[in-house]
This record gives sequence, structure tokens and C-alpha cells, in this order.
Amino acid sequence: MTIDFRAIAEAMREELVARRRDFHQHPETAFEEVRTAGIVAKELQQLGLEVQTGVGKTGVIGILDGDKEGPTVLVRADMDALPVTEANETDYVSQTAGKMHACGHDGHTAVALGVAKLFSQHRDKLKGRIKFVFQPAEEIGAGAKAMIADGALQNPKPDVSLGLHLWNSVPLGKVGIADGPIMAAPSIFEITIHGKGGHGAMPDETIDPLVCAAQMVMAFQTIASRNASPFDQLALSVTQIITGTAKNIIPDSAYLSGTFRWFTPQIRDMVDKRMREIAEHTAAAMGCTADIQIAHQANPVVNHPEVSGIVRGAFKKIGIDEADMLHERTTAAEDVGEFMTDIPGMFFFVGSANEERGLNYPHHHPRFDFDEDALPLSVALLSAAIAEYVVEDE
Ligand SMILES: [Zn+2]
Ligand SMILES: [Zn+2]
Repeated sequence: MTIDFRAIAEAMREELVARRRDFHQHPETAFEEVRTAGIVAKELQQLGLEVQTGVGKTGVIGILDGDKEGPTVLVRADMDALPVTEANETDYVSQTAGKMHACGHDGHTAVALGVAKLFSQHRDKLKGRIKFVFQPAEEIGAGAKAMIADGALQNPKPDVSLGLHLWNSVPLGKVGIADGPIMAAPSIFEITIHGKGGHGAMPDETIDPLVCAAQMVMAFQTIASRNASPFDQLALSVTQIITGTAKNIIPDSAYLSGTFRWFTPQIRDMVDKRMREIAEHTAAAMGCTADIQIAHQANPVVNHPEVSGIVRGAFKKIGIDEADMLHERTTAAEDVGEFMTDIPGMFFFVGSANEERGLNYPHHHPRFDFDEDALPLSVALLSAAIAEYVVEDE
């Protein structure tokens, strides 16, 4: 390899940490990433990239053209924070009450800027181009779609999409990889059951929507256990039942909501169909009616086996052994899948947990934090993966 990614990334450590801590202190939630996007755009301009701002509201695209022709590699980093009040007591704690980088996107933004810097200094070795996509609003599943609607996948259309997530389910030094589906797609449902309210002491004069809701919740359990194959992956959870006002009143209606997570469109369609059948017929059996709404919010994140094979090879070249590459999948969702639907891609997890230092709280927890040694490693891993496509062999 002509470029020593590990050494360059390691030399960047202080800069990566400083940048990440700055973002961490100034978290911005979905579509409000104005300060963050401003810093990103300015840095990319200084590095000599061609920069577009306001893509999908607050998104930024930076294109680094190589000296020679070749493929286009899309690199995606998300910039948004979460509506959580930070409970950590570090000297880089969030300065905004109610907002926090509790998912590590501060790190992702710093890492992608590091990668842009690294390659901007090796333009002479680039064939093709790197399209850096700094995305807003990942946490509400809307940013990728907004950027794509604004043309993020055109001019030029990428040949391959790459991205990473710092991941506290994996220890520092390890990488989490899956060669097919790696993150699930989220669907949400809302059901309103209509009955006939009345006195709790005279149930015979009512049509009880609450008993109907209870039956429906139990009947939904059979979708994962009896309709999906034991070899399929599916999570289905009813997470809310809202009904009733008093101990002696049978309510008029009951509201249920929840989520299901899937990896293939076949499972998505099966669950959609079975939920509607169960809701409708359970309601009918109990003398009620049910309005059901199901929304499929995003695509699963599915790694292209050929791309993941190439990326595994790249990781080995920078000293990551097969034993350090763990098989990791999650039913959590990520809208990076939108950039990988028609374009072969690879999304991987960089282990960021350090149990000894107490840096192992789960993502979205008010005490979430990660081991910053994962930052230079992330720059090296992502750069090595990109290089497979756009760095000229000697
Ligand atoms: Zn998150
Ligand atoms: Zn995230």
C-alpha cells in the first residue's frame, strides 16, 4: 500500500479528538445542524474539495476529485445529536440542556473530515473521486431521504457507498461486520379500536375496546413465532396501549402502537398483511372495529457481499486480523441503507467500548460515551476501504 493509513490516522489523533469534543459540546438535533454543517463546509473548502451546502436542508456534500479518472466512492457520515440531557461529567460535556451526541455522530463527523484531509493530501494517487456526504437527521430517519431528494446520488452517481458507526456493543480494537443484512428496517404501526363505553359495573351494556386490545396484543405475538420462519429475523413489539380515564368507566376506544424491524421485503409484507388481518378480525370477533395504520420508514442496511469481501481484504492490509472482525448485526435501524439500495455498499461497526474506563453505556443513553482511540482507527479503516476503489496500485 502506498499510503500508511494507520500511521497518518494515528498522527491525526489530537485533531480528531479536539474536533469530536467540539461537536460533542455543541450538539444539534435533526435538521438543525447549522453550526456543525458550517464547520464541515468550511473545513472541506479549505481542503480544496468542491462543496455543496443546504443539501437536504442542513446536509453538506464535498467532492474530492483525483488527478485521474475512475470510480466514485460515496462516504457517508451523520451529524445529528439526540434530544437527551447528558448525564456525563466530562470537560467536554454537552453545553445544551436537552441535547446530546448520545449515538457517536460527533465522532462520525470528525472521522469523515479526517478521511477527507488524508486523501486531500494524496490527490496525486487518486483515480476517480470521493463524494463525502455529511447527513443531517439520521435519528429521525429523514436525513438520507432528504439529501437524496436534493440529488445527493446524482452528478456524479456513486459506484459504491461506504460508511461506519462507532459501536459500543463491540470492544475497542474489534470491527463488527456482516456480509449481508447488518441493520434492520423500521416499520411503525398505530391501531385505534372503537367500541362502546359505559359503566364498569355494567359491562354487558358496553362493547369493551380494552379487552379487544388485550387480545390483539396477544394475537400479534404469533406473527413472529408462528408466521415467520425460525430462520427469519423479525422483532415485533407493541409499545403503547392508551385507553381509559377512571376505574369505573369502560372506555369508548383504545389506542395501540408499536414497531417492527425486518431485514427482507418478504418479511415486511408478511407482517403488514398479518397485522391487518389480525386487527380486523380480532376487532370483529369482539364486536369492535379497528383503524390500522402501518408505515415502513426505511430500508434495511444490506451489505453487498462483493464489497464486504473487498473491505475485509482492505482491513487485513492494515493489520486487522480475521479474529478481530466480529460478526455483528442489529435490529436497530439506520437510514444509511437509503444510500445502499441501488448502489452496492458496505456499512460496518467500529468497536468503541472500553469497559474498564466505564465507556460501555449503550447508544442513546444519557451516559453514552466512547473510547476516543476508536477515532484514528476509524479513519484508518474507512480510508483503507476507500483506497481499494480509488487509490492507484503501484
Ligand atoms: Zn442513534
Ligand atoms: Zn447512530
